[in-house]
Amino acid sequence: MRVAILADIHGNLEALEAVLADAAGYGGVDESWCLGDIVGYGPDPTACLASVLEKCRYVVAGNHDMAAAGVIALADFNDDAAKACLWTSKQLSHKELTHLKKLEMETWVDDFTLVHGSPKDPIWEYLVNVDAARENFSRFETPYCLVGHSHVPLIFEEAHNRARMVVPLPAVMKLHDKRFIINPGSVGQPRDRDSRASYMIYDSTEKTVELRRLSYNITMTQEKMTAAGLPQYLIKRLTRGI
Ligand code: ZN
Repeated sequence: MRVAILADIHGNLEALEAVLADAAGYGGVDESWCLGDIVGYGPDPTACLASVLEKCRYVVAGNHDMAAAGVIALADFNDDAAKACLWTSKQLSHKELTHLKKLEMETWVDDFTLVHGSPKDPIWEYLVNVDAARENFSRFETPYCLVGHSHVPLIFEEAHNRARMVVPLPAVMKLHDKRFIINPGSVGQPRDRDSRASYMIYDSTEKTVELRRLSYNITMTQEKMTAAGLPQYLIKRLTRGI
């Protein structure tokens, strides 16, 4: 089975469509899974939510999904994120907000635990260093854990009760008999100084994850954000991939 692993779409329809087209054309996928933050920041929350609900078999909630749905407060968001979140809430219907409210914070599929942030804190923790990885390896029971939230593609490996970050990240990573925490990067707002949309394909036969990066029409997304009156910083950062 081949699975497209998507995270942090953030209402960016151009990036999402580029990723879905790539996954379909590149040997195809049997399923897609989403690690949350479908909405927030970007100009197309409705279309992105519809696409994710249609295409993704498993979806967990991100902090932006929960804030847009009113499940968590905006107090922990910075000004630009809060403004975009309020704008997003207003675009979504009662039914769409109910879909977001109902998303699970954690789910399990085959060998994987799926969360947005981390097993320790599914909504808020940025799992970006070895100390956090070491602590989190004891917080899930499956061989592998998929996380999003940091918008940076990363893989941590556990061996002999120690954690290490896999650096440099290979294009294709063999998941041999160790445990891994895997972040596919962000579809709609990458922050690793590479503006291309990021996602991964898991191949259960080969036992591999492959990192895929796609150029998309950033200008179109930015023009929609400008027309919607979304904050300038959020518009500019798409070009810089930060
Ligand atoms: Zn996010």
